[in-house]
Amino acid sequence: MPVLTRLIPSPVVVDIRPGALDDLACVLADERISQSGRLAIAVSGGSGARLRERIAPSLPGATWFEVGGGTIDDAVRLAGDMRGGHYDAVVGLGGGKIIDCAKFAAARVGLPLVAVATNLAHDGLCSPVATLDNDAGRGSYGVPNPIAVVIDLNVVREAPVRYVRSGIGDVISNVSAVADWELSHRVNGEKIDGLAAAMARQAGEAVLRHPGGVGDDGFLQVLAEALVLTGIAMSVSGDSRPSSGACHEINHAFDLLYPRRAAAHGEQCGLGAAFAMYLRGAHEESAAMAEVLRRHGLPVLPEEIGFTVDEFVRVVEFAPETRPGRFTILEHLDLKTEQIKDVYADYVKAIGS
Ligand SMILES: [Zn+2]
Repeated sequence: MPVLTRLIPSPVVVDIRPGALDDLACVLADERISQSGRLAIAVSGGSGARLRERIAPSLPGATWFEVGGGTIDDAVRLAGDMRGGHYDAVVGLGGGKIIDCAKFAAARVGLPLVAVATNLAHDGLCSPVATLDNDAGRGSYGVPNPIAVVIDLNVVREAPVRYVRSGIGDVISNVSAVADWELSHRVNGEKIDGLAAAMARQAGEAVLRHPGGVGDDGFLQVLAEALVLTGIAMSVSGDSRPSSGACHEINHAFDLLYPRRAAAHGEQCGLGAAFAMYLRGAHEESAAMAEVLRRHGLPVLPEEIGFTVDEFVRVVEFAPETRPGRFTILEHLDLKTEQIKDVYADYVKAIGS
């Protein structure tokens, strides 16, 4: 009988719970990941040191690599250092920068990557994309999806709360990104992947509708799972379409126009999503999204992250240029400066203060 379904590129292990780190050695000993115990582990020199102390005794065959930062040079250097070590797998242990560096380096040396995320700042912890700083600012590099993902919610809790907030904004923005994808499907006939769209939207909706807060285990569990499922949705579609639309164009525009003043990724994406929902005429959804963002301590107005209205208008105007070829509500409406100002004033009234 022919196989009529498709296979989904996905990690062989997903372990998300309080205390998951205690069983990391067990996960890594899975014969599909490391038979010999020879592992290359990438950590940061700072916060990674404590985790290293804690885990190193259970992983005697591991070699530890300190990663300098989140640039393409750091990633290339890491790959060079790992070359010739005859490892079974690379483990990225840390926040987004470390995992992205490890992802890129693992792809370069042809080894599978295990992502051990210590914060929930964005949906890159299980995605087929490595975001690294380069000479042009910041680049996204296609890489294989991690072979395993481990998230210890006790470790996540120890990270500054702004990382959790950033993850909330990033995953909630999926709802707007999928709406952009559907818009492009209707207007341009762009192919939409129903499974990827469903996974990304459900992840966004789950966090949007969860009554808990950043301090609850139940909420952190749902948030971490939502971020992982978003990454897998990107693998299913083969690009970032399920989780990146006008919300992310606005985020990129903040980063590119004001590199020194830019706020956290998820803060900018959440604000971008609430505004994009308003732009597409989904006024109730926009207000509901803004309310949830506020409840979690995320910004819904540019001034809450230190930008004037005029600067935000410039951001919205510039946003489509950050992602040529991606069609969203911004490209669809193609608003001029004065129109953006007007609609922004309406948005502010609509979400209340
Ligand atoms: Zn994002």
